[in-house]
Amino acid sequence: MTLRIIADRDVCEGHGMCEATSHEYFELDDTATVVVINENPPDSERSFVQAAVDACPVSALKLVEE
Ligand code: SF4
Repeated sequence: MTLRIIADRDVCEGHGMCEATSHEYFELDDTATVVVINENPPDSERSFVQAAVDACPVSALKLVEE
């Protein structure tokens, strides 16, 4: 089982909450759209990443198990 972060860049409005919460995993590009730096967080980081996913005000982020 692997965790994977999925970002819908069409939905992202560039609020930056994900980057502020978890800059190890998310950053904004020069169009203020989210980029996932590391798509596969270890399970030990699950709640940390989930907090960033939940912080997105437009629900552009998901954390899934594969
Ligand atoms: S918090 Fe959501 S809307 Fe804001 S930059 Fe991150 S993905 Fe985009």
